[in-house]
Amino acid sequence: MADSRDLLAKVSDVSTETEYFSPIPNGYKKGKCRYVIVMGTVMSGLGKGIFSSCLAKLMIDKGLKVAPIKLEGYLNIDSGTLNPFRHGEVFVLDDGMECDMDLGTYERMLNLDLSGANFATSGQIYSSVLNKERHGDYLGRDVQMIPHVTGEVKLKLRKLAMDTDADIVFVEIGGTVGDLENAFYIEAMREMAYEEGPGSCSFVALTYILEPKTLGEQKSKAAQLGIKQLMQTGIQPDIIACRCENPVSEQARQKISVFSNVPFERVFSMHDSASIYTIPAMLREGGLDFEVLRMLKIEDRINLRKERTEWAKWCDFTDKIGKEKYDITIGITGKYTSVRDSYASILNALEHSGIALGCKVDVKWIETTDLTDDNVAAHLDGVDGIIVPGGFGTRGTEGKIACIKYARQNKVPYLGLCLGFQMAVVEFARSVVGLKNANSSEIDQKCEHAVIDILPEQKKIEGLGGNMRLGGRDIEIKKGTQAYKLFGKKDSVRKRFRHRYEVDPKYIDQIEKEGMIFSGKAPDQPIMQVLEIGDHPFFIATQSHPELTSRPLAPEPMFTGLVAEAMRKRNPEENLPDAITAAKKVC
Ligand code: GLN
Repeated sequence: MADSRDLLAKVSDVSTETEYFSPIPNGYKKGKCRYVIVMGTVMSGLGKGIFSSCLAKLMIDKGLKVAPIKLEGYLNIDSGTLNPFRHGEVFVLDDGMECDMDLGTYERMLNLDLSGANFATSGQIYSSVLNKERHGDYLGRDVQMIPHVTGEVKLKLRKLAMDTDADIVFVEIGGTVGDLENAFYIEAMREMAYEEGPGSCSFVALTYILEPKTLGEQKSKAAQLGIKQLMQTGIQPDIIACRCENPVSEQARQKISVFSNVPFERVFSMHDSASIYTIPAMLREGGLDFEVLRMLKIEDRINLRKERTEWAKWCDFTDKIGKEKYDITIGITGKYTSVRDSYASILNALEHSGIALGCKVDVKWIETTDLTDDNVAAHLDGVDGIIVPGGFGTRGTEGKIACIKYARQNKVPYLGLCLGFQMAVVEFARSVVGLKNANSSEIDQKCEHAVIDILPEQKKIEGLGGNMRLGGRDIEIKKGTQAYKLFGKKDSVRKRFRHRYEVDPKYIDQIEKEGMIFSGKAPDQPIMQVLEIGDHPFFIATQSHPELTSRPLAPEPMFTGLVAEAMRKRNPEENLPDAITAAKKVC
């Protein structure tokens, strides 16, 4: 008689005859792709995405094809409407998907451009099930969490595996085991491991080792309880990654090993490290990459020669971390200043350029709510460069404008990102062009000169969340400008966007006449995308979000330019390379 696993694999669609239901995409070959599933216990925020992306990086280096996917428990269809203060930054993919910041970690670590296929929320899964129900796709069956909702999850994973021809799909489940909203994902993964067969899936539990100051020793009880909870769902973890401030003691690892049936060598210490970019080395030294390959029985697919060269390149980069000769302070304005996660990509982009230029970048957060022309100098004291990042709403915008004015007049290197681009236009229009009441209509709907206004093409679309200009777009760069030189004399560069407002084309001539240069534009529309001013060491802003596409081994040129000029400002006695020379060298 057929094994239920084979039946599951053959049922490519629905049937009322059998209890087996597991939709499988046409052409899917069982056994081709393996799955590494990363889950959290004890608490969230442990760095599942970091662990998963670092392990995935080691696999890519070995010549394997890897596709990551993040499964989010919340009901939102995407992350577009989430408050970055609560959830971390909204990361935007090239196809316009607004997603969790972990996707940024994957893109940076794996040097891959991802898409909506790499991100799912409960909202997406449910809405797809409900659409199918309305189309009559379930043939008279009552639609249930199991097998239909779990079936939809497995379908998404298998489609990803097939479309990317992956050797390994890395599945990261958001939240922690025990959250009601994530329970169906975990059940789906239990089913997946059964259907795909032994050796197809490797389960990683990330856990947390407590180290109370009063005791001065590491305690593994909470971790044990968390792992037990996972085992109650019918999943036996294969690897346990223990998060802890300090390296996890052998004794604590032994205890966890005994209580969870996981061999000692697969109970791994993932302690705090100065940079996430040194974590792949930590995993490699622990032998985790080969443990996983052995478990998944795909050692024969790897290319050790490729790994040697890739690893050498990576080490050239990580060897520089912590050995920086210079340091600078960049002031970043913004209303989410208390949460570093809200600006994760900007911090990463600064780190990439900093490491490449041998410079440690410290950040000074600048709360702009009470900032004015009179007190701005004191707030910017000790700052070598300024970033005004993206943002929405009106709070603190006048303070941001005061910072930009200060940067422009005092020749402090400035990089404006999205809202920081728009505010630079407003400041210039007010102070230089003489349009006294210039503003963005997002901030003052009735302002006399709305130099920044809602996009004509977006005006037609109503409703929050659905009317943004989103995703990757080409920027046409004007020859001879600083941007042109910074981008290595390329006529066109691709950046990611997330905005509703833009420069009102009717002001462009007037503004350019006074010396602001729009050095980057949309190829087919009068949408201004990069600006600069002359007679200033570095004053560049962009309507895009260049921070999203900076990569460890390929720093983003505008960030490199800012860091280089900030280094020059800090060390005027040294003849350090200017923005363009630095970008030429490292980007
Ligand atoms: N709020 C501005 C807009 O919608 C800027 C957006 C941003 O900074 N991401 O256009």
